[in-house]
Order: sequence, then structure tokens, then C-alpha cells
Amino acid sequence: MSEFDLIQRYFTRATPGAVLGVGDDAALLKLSDGMELAVSTDMLVSGTHFFPDADPMLLGHKTLAVNLSDLAAMGATPRWATLALSLPEVKESWLDKFSQGFFSLAEQYGVELVGGDTTRGPLNLCVTILGEVPKGKALRREGAKAGDDIWVSGTLGEAALALAHLQSKIKLNQVKFATCAARLHQPLPRIALGRALSGIANSAIDISDGLLADLGHILERSKVGAELNYTAIRGVRVDGGGEDIVQRCVLAGGDDYELCFTAPSANRDAIQNISVTLALPLTLIGKITKEPGCILRNADDSLMQIKEQGYDHFG
Ligand code: ADP
Ligand code: MG
Repeated sequence: MSEFDLIQRYFTRATPGAVLGVGDDAALLKLSDGMELAVSTDMLVSGTHFFPDADPMLLGHKTLAVNLSDLAAMGATPRWATLALSLPEVKESWLDKFSQGFFSLAEQYGVELVGGDTTRGPLNLCVTILGEVPKGKALRREGAKAGDDIWVSGTLGEAALALAHLQSKIKLNQVKFATCAARLHQPLPRIALGRALSGIANSAIDISDGLLADLGHILERSKVGAELNYTAIRGVRVDGGGEDIVQRCVLAGGDDYELCFTAPSANRDAIQNISVTLALPLTLIGKITKEPGCILRNADDSLMQIKEQGYDHFG
């Protein structure tokens, strides 16, 4: 199968939302009136981000999902994507499943694949996602203010715990592993939440490298600090030991793809309403402080030692 047959067969779908999609030297796109373009790229590398024998359908899903999550954190609506693929060989069963996983998530969010690149090489998947956000309304990392509440969506640590199980660092029962593995392989980007937070949150980030690391980016960019209440954090729970590893997964595990955001306390009711509307837990976990640094408290108010760092590819 030629490169062009491959693109035609597996990666060419109707793109009514684009002026021009796959097949020319470039795609042509037009933004809606009053909107800014939000662009983000995320790459998944075999052996680094996934096991080489990973299920191709789940991989297709995750490749797009991690990119959608970045747009969610900006409060943007995803519209288009490009896909750069490097493949060791043309394996049709793999491509068929991969594209199914990719397009079924794309359809769910109204995202159109408008271009890409396909080459031979080590398995490497790179998506650029393009979306729209009303002018001046994007949720940025730099907007957190002293006194803001700090919020997190969903439950943290499940994906990292599934990985710890796969690496034999902890033994989960079958049911627990299934829940956690779904979070690892099929993250659900919080697009609706990001959009709803426009005008309500002062800053936001998606949690891909662990809560402390990603909140750390907000703190750094906003030049503020944080005080967190560990017991308030809605983290994965495991019966019978492994407390250390569980704590590490919750605080520094990564792959959660939840949103962490800050908002004035006057917006608490609005945020609770969003939580009800979206049927998604939103939990108040701490406060932004004027003093830099991040402090974590136990239930009894005592200080907790923070050893955990997030994932850093070059750290
Ligand atoms: P060029 O040689 O101009 O770079 P290519 O031969 O790489 O063009 O690609 C031909 C067309 O197919 C382009 O429109 C490109 O965007 C698209 N394309 C290539 N690979 C992919 C892919 N994996 N998914 C979607 N579109 C792709
Ligand atoms: Mg090319």
C-alpha cells in the first residue's frame, strides 16, 4: 500500500467545517467571527508514553484525547486537528483500529482531521489541535490571584495507579484495576468544563504531569503560592496498604487529564452549579496565597512534607 493510499483510506474523512481538508499542500481554515485560534501540539512516543504493543484503538483515542485536554484547559472549543505519524511498517489491522479510535473521539467532539504527515520510522504519534475561543476569554496559567480558591475536577491518581499496577509496584484487585486502566487508556477531555469556566475561573491547567507539578506551573506563571488541604483532594483510594504509592499517584502521578483551576470565592455557587450540570465532581482543595511556594496540610492542620514531583522528561 502506498503512502497516499494509506492516507486516503485511513485518514481522509469529510471536513465540512474546513474550507479545504486533507489532500492539498495545506488545509484552509476559517475562524468564526469574534474568535481567537487556540493551537496546541502533543506527541506520544512508543516506549515513553505507551507500551509498543498497546491496543491501537485505545492509542488512537488517547493520541487525540491528550490534545483535546490542552484545549479544555484554555476554555477553547476544538475544531480541527492534524496528525503526524511515524510508523515502522504498514500494518492494516493496526491502522484500521488506530483510525477508528481516533475518529470516534473526534466525532464525539466535532473535530475534523484536516492534514498531517506520514513517514516510516519508530512509532511516534503527534497531533496538533486547533480550536476557537472567544477573543480575550481564554483561561491562562498566569491569571491566578492571591485569595483565589483552587479547584480540581474528577478523581486524581487512578491512571497513575493503573500504571503502577502494570509495573508491579502495587497489586490492585480486578475491579479496581479495570476502573483505573480505563482512566489510563481512555482519558476523557474536560472540554465542557473548560468552556463553562470562561468568565468564572481566573486560571486553569490540565493535569497531565501530576497535580503538584501542574499547579506549580500556574503558581510560577501567576507569581503566587498555594496552600492545599490534602484530605480535601478527591484521590483514588485503595483498601489494604500501599498508602505511600497511592499518595504519590494522587499528587504526582500524571495522566489524569482533569482540570485544575483557580477562581474568586464569590464564584463558588456558580462552580457548584457547573458541577451539577456536567455531573462532574468539582472539589475545592485549597487557596492561592501571596507568598510563593506550595504548602500541603493534613486533616489536623499539620504540615505535610512534599517529596513528590511531577513527571519531567529531562528531570
Ligand atoms: P506534502 O508532500 O506536500 O507534505 P504529503 O504527501 O505529506 O504532502 O500529504 C498529502 C496530504 O495528506 C496533505 O494534505 C497532508 O496534510 C495529508 N496527510 C498526510 N498524512 C496524513 C495523516 N496521517 N493524516 C491526515 N492527513 C495526512
Ligand atoms: Mg508531507
